[in-house]
Amino acid sequence: MKSDLHTYREKRDFTKTGEPEGARRTHKGHAYLIQKHEARQLHYDFRLEHDGVLKSWAVPRGPSMDPGDKRLAVRTEDHPVEYGSFEGSIPKGQYGGGTVMLWDEGTWEPLGDPDEGFREGKLKFVIHGKRLHGGFALVRLRSDTGRKQGKENWLLIKEKDEFARPGEGGDLIESQLTSVHSGLEMDEIAEEQPEWHSNESVEANVKRLKKVKRASAARRAPRARSSSPRKAAKAAASAKKKRKRKSS
Ligand code: MN
Repeated sequence: MKSDLHTYREKRDFTKTGEPEGARRTHKGHAYLIQKHEARQLHYDFRLEHDGVLKSWAVPRGPSMDPGDKRLAVRTEDHPVEYGSFEGSIPKGQYGGGTVMLWDEGTWEPLGDPDEGFREGKLKFVIHGKRLHGGFALVRLRSDTGRKQGKENWLLIKEKDEFARPGEGGDLIESQLTSVHSGLEMDEIAEEQPEWHSNESVEANVKRLKKVKRASAARRAPRARSSSPRKAAKAAASAKKKRKRKSS
């Protein structure tokens, strides 16, 4: 698999999707994130920053906190680090068309040499996320027939530690339905980010998107501020005052 962003760029039309074009980073960080992606099939994109890009796997059933679960993780093309803050809709008909939610974020810590891990197909690491914590392993299937086609099948496995939840594998996926970034649910993100209509002119699209964006910003203003309870209370109070002034 090519270890650059060539494949990533080749698959996308950046005049039609809001995804970032991005570039390889020279500063080497250890970002970790999961994007819930409702494309043709729902999956969770598991990404680890390594060597200036996001190494990526699509996990159809999502991560499990049960060490007894082995979750299939299909290796996908490297993504730019900027992709880690992307949340929104990819237009229908474009590659990966559908809704993307930032489901978890944080950092990862390789155990052992990660370059060797990628080469050998056995990566052990610790995740410091908002939802995932503790040791995990990604193991490439040895009898993987898809490798020649550039598709590698790996398994994502929770290590046994104090964060493990034996017998409760699916709980996290089922209980955590909001974005760690915006607090929105999938349908709200889809609503928030209207799609680009390819049968309309660029001007018509821009005009329509701006209009919807303004309307939804106005509608969501109190909610967007609710990250700080004090600020939210202040905003609510001033909105009330404004309304009063208007009505009097
Ligand atoms: Mn995806």
